[in-house]
Amino acid sequence: MIDLRSDTVTQPTAAMRQAMANANVGDDVFGDDPTVNELQDLAAEMFCFDSALFTSSGTQANLLALMSHCERGDEYLCGQQAHNYKFEGGGAAVLGSIQPQPIANQSDGTINLDDVKAAIKPDDFHFARTKLLSLENTIGGLILPQDYLAQAQSFAFNHGLKIHLDGARVANAAVAQNLSISAITDHFDSVSICLSKGLCAPVGSLLLGSEDFINRARRWRKVLGGGMRQAGILAAAAKLALTDQVERLAEDHENAQFLLTELEKIDELTVDPTQVQTNMVFADLPDYVDPKALALDLKQRGILIYPSSHLRLVTHKDINQQDIHKVVTAIKDCIKNNTK
Ligand SMILES: *Cc1c(COP(=O)(O)O)cnc(C)c1O
Repeated sequence: MIDLRSDTVTQPTAAMRQAMANANVGDDVFGDDPTVNELQDLAAEMFCFDSALFTSSGTQANLLALMSHCERGDEYLCGQQAHNYKFEGGGAAVLGSIQPQPIANQSDGTINLDDVKAAIKPDDFHFARTKLLSLENTIGGLILPQDYLAQAQSFAFNHGLKIHLDGARVANAAVAQNLSISAITDHFDSVSICLSKGLCAPVGSLLLGSEDFINRARRWRKVLGGGMRQAGILAAAAKLALTDQVERLAEDHENAQFLLTELEKIDELTVDPTQVQTNMVFADLPDYVDPKALALDLKQRGILIYPSSHLRLVTHKDINQQDIHKVVTAIKDCIKNNTK
């Protein structure tokens, strides 16, 4: 199957499977797992933070960040399209008693800092206490401009807020701009990153921050059932995600550009090249095409996509140029066969 639904579908590499089989492990709840400790030390160094914490998922890393920055009755500001507002089951409210204050995202993925300013609550018992600004980079495959990050950082500082980055795909943002990851993460008090997306680890994310912050997060991780025992089996693959897979993301971005160029040649599709900055390609189907029928037809030809009139196609390690040729030919054909 050629699976374009997400970069979460990537299979672990042979080297990862080997490393998992041979990993030295211990009880990580006791802090005894050497491989988890190596992963966390490596990440802290790469991202330029005091401490790092291995988590079961990106959702868990974000929730730990929100619960470690905010307390009951506090509030975080984030984009209306933010993953940690829209796609994480309302976890901050459900489990943290923390109120989200979503703010409209601009078409480039940023949130206007004047809008953020207007949403900060006065210090008055009618309101939740505004504590945190949370950004996402990349967001919908878009890269937040570096000068925007600098502005957001000083904005947060000037307003007494902490600033968190949902950096599930921050490595994509770094590679696409030819920057080190720390050139992006430098602007934040805390960062989460997914190792199980384009970086190909089977499981796991990281949360980064100060030593105090990570100690609070470790406590909440235990509360949430995320204290794992011989987790070095997973950390062994996660280490290789950081050492071997970051630079490789450039291939995913090249493949996304190639897919974009080929899709632009299909007259029936509407594609906006400005939206293709990393590993996500978007294309709008014409009204007369049935997205569900199209997706089913593609599936029968060995291609998986989410059925939607606004197609999101994600490139990753297990997609090559030959696959893209096949996809483009199939889409061209399927558009003709699946009118409403
Ligand atoms: C995937 C993703 C997450 C959550 O990661 P999971 O490991 O799937 O829980 C968080 N934020 C963003 C922006 C993501 O894309």
